[in-house]
Amino acid sequence: MLINRPRGTNDILPGDVEKWQFVEETAREVCRRFNVKEIRTPIFEHTELFQRGVGDTTDIVQKEMYTFEDRGERSLTLRPEGTAAVTRAYTENKLYAQPAPQKLFYIGPMFRYERPQSGRYRQFHQFGVEVLGVNDPAVDAEVIALAMTFLHEIGLQDLSLEINSVGSPDSRTHYRDILREHLTPVKEQLCKDCQTRFDKNPMRILDCKVDTCKGLTQDAPYMLDHLVEADAEHFKALCEYLDSFGVEYKVNPRMVRGLDYYTQTAFEIIESGSTIGGGGRYNGLVEQVGGPESPGIGFAFGVERCLIALNTQQVTPDIPTGLDVFLVSLGEAAQKATSALLQEFRISGLVADKDYLGKSMKAQMKAADRQQARRVVILGDDELAQGVANVKDMATGEQSTVGIDELTSHLLSTLE
Ligand code: ATP
Ligand code: MG
Repeated sequence: MLINRPRGTNDILPGDVEKWQFVEETAREVCRRFNVKEIRTPIFEHTELFQRGVGDTTDIVQKEMYTFEDRGERSLTLRPEGTAAVTRAYTENKLYAQPAPQKLFYIGPMFRYERPQSGRYRQFHQFGVEVLGVNDPAVDAEVIALAMTFLHEIGLQDLSLEINSVGSPDSRTHYRDILREHLTPVKEQLCKDCQTRFDKNPMRILDCKVDTCKGLTQDAPYMLDHLVEADAEHFKALCEYLDSFGVEYKVNPRMVRGLDYYTQTAFEIIESGSTIGGGGRYNGLVEQVGGPESPGIGFAFGVERCLIALNTQQVTPDIPTGLDVFLVSLGEAAQKATSALLQEFRISGLVADKDYLGKSMKAQMKAADRQQARRVVILGDDELAQGVANVKDMATGEQSTVGIDELTSHLLSTLE
């Protein structure tokens, strides 16, 4: 019996994978220009890292983690997000002792036990950036600008960037009381989860997906109206920087991100009503995972959601496909000779292939067409004996006879 892939996972096949490569390459290129370096952390970490780093009251930790015990009876978890792991690596490898800021990016799979649906999988992929060690709002603006530059360069338009400030702990202590006071009269009508959140972390209630809770929090006071002065100033400076960059945004005082670690800046990018990525500042997180006090800001995009958005906007990235050369052979001696020629083409930098099934000349030409070969090299036993081959330019139909010894340099010079 066939064993299928696990629910909520995907095979990324040729034909699609080129789009993935394009998105990933664009991400790397934009990071290179912003002087952001790649970091690769393990796919699994100690469960405690996420409990502490992502937060015990988040959906991720409460419901979505792939946690297992290994043979040494350690509790490990497949990473559900990247930020906690990056701050762990930053601390463990003492990157904080190096000149600040440390600007890092990652691209890779994440794992969450969720109900699979379009744009929501159990293994999905994120492109994320984290900038650690600096609290300057100019960095917040740059990180947001990097995110928007990436999205524009993959070809997306009409995106909505929403920003907010969720305050520092000073602002939040005060705001939590205000929020509890506002919600006390309706506490019993909140969903079970939110009743727990009411005591532990009432700001989470604002992020609840249950309709009654959404309704009950509609008129709740805004964090943005209750910021301490330093937070208010940070937010104002961020807006001014974004204005000076020409990055358009909308202030959404209702936005709270789904993770506990955010402080001050929070932002999301929305395409046709669905969020493709978001992030924010997390000034307490490094300490939370056992490191020194260091500020940080970052974001993560779902690669799948970026690809869905490209589809929705009917963007077809300009991806080079097709072969430089397809080798067609006639006769046994010629057929044998093509293998060494193919190797010569390939090490010289040409994208080259041939037929292995002993197909007819016509079928080989068809295969060359199907693979969008720009040139076809036709080699028969007679030509081989004379030391020549025929080269056909598939765009113009022109044919020429070229000495076998000059084939590679001929192809290289005419394929510029
Ligand atoms: P959502 O509200 O959609 O559950 P989230 O707030 O849980 O998103 P984050 O933790 O902020 O998402 O992750 C950043 C991005 O990663 C999301 O905006 C989305 O593009 C992507 N993402 C998150 N969870 C999934 C998933 N299960 N499948 C695919 N992409 C996901
Ligand atoms: Mg989620």
